[in-house]
Amino acid sequence: MPELPEVEVSRLGITPWLKDQTITRVIVRDKRLRWPVPQEVQLASGQVIKQIHRRAKYLLIETDLGSIVMHLGMSGKLRVIDANYPVAKHDHIDIVLASGKCLRFNDPRRFGACLWQPVGDTLPLLTKLGPEPLTEAFNSDHLVALAKGRKSPIKSFIMDNAVVVGVGNIYANEALFLAGIDPRRAAGRVSVKRLEVLTQAIKAVLAKAIEQGGTTLKDFAQSDGNPGYFAQQLQVYGRAGDECLQCDTPIKSVVIGQRNTFYCPSCQR
Ligand SMILES: [Zn+2]
Repeated sequence: MPELPEVEVSRLGITPWLKDQTITRVIVRDKRLRWPVPQEVQLASGQVIKQIHRRAKYLLIETDLGSIVMHLGMSGKLRVIDANYPVAKHDHIDIVLASGKCLRFNDPRRFGACLWQPVGDTLPLLTKLGPEPLTEAFNSDHLVALAKGRKSPIKSFIMDNAVVVGVGNIYANEALFLAGIDPRRAAGRVSVKRLEVLTQAIKAVLAKAIEQGGTTLKDFAQSDGNPGYFAQQLQVYGRAGDECLQCDTPIKSVVIGQRNTFYCPSCQR
C-alpha cells in the first residue's frame, strides 16, 4: 500500500508535468472506485492547474474552480504519458493536458479515489485530519497533549490520523524502534522526554523515505513507470526472528490493532 512517502514522491514526480497546464478533458473509464467518481470532476475541463498539494495521502490537483482530489488506495498508480498511449486494463482515469500528455490513473483493486472539492470548500474526509508530520504543527507539545491519559498502545496512537496523518504501519514500527519505545506501551505512559524523541523519529523516518524515493522521480513520466516501493533499510519491519541490528536480540512480532508489529525486546522499553 502506498504510504505517505510514496504519495509525496508521486506529487513531486508529476508536478513538473502538470503545473500551469490546461486540462482539456477528464476521461473516466470506470467510476467505480472506493467512492463513485462524481460528475463534477468534469468541471476541471478547461481549467489551468495551479498547484498539486498533498494532504495526508490525498493529492489535490488545484484549479480556480476547485480541486480534483486523488487517493492511491491499496494499488493505485499515477503516470504522466502521451495522451494517445494505448489504454491498459485498470486505467480508470485520464486527466488530459493541452501539452498532449495525460495523467493516467491505474488501480487494479479500485480502493483509490477521485473526487471533486469546490473552491472554498473542504471535503468531510479532509476536515478531521491531524497535522502533517513534516510540518512544525506536528511537534512534541502536540503529541504530549494528546497522549495524556491515553490507554491505547503508542503504536496505534501514532497511526491515528486524528493525532498525526500519514504514519503507516511500516513507519510506525521503524519510528518506535528508533525512539526505543515498546510499541505495546500505553501512549499515556510514555514520558514527555521520550515523546519528544518519538516526534523527531517520526519526522526522520518519513523524510528519509522521501529522500530515497527521489531516485524514482523520472519513473513517473515513463510509460512503464512503476516506482512502487522504495528500497529502504528497515530496522525491524518484516524482520521477525532476525537479529536486531543494534544488539543481536531476535526481533519479535505481535499484532496490535490488527497490524503486524515488529520490535526488539531489548532495545525497546
Ligand atoms: Zn535490539
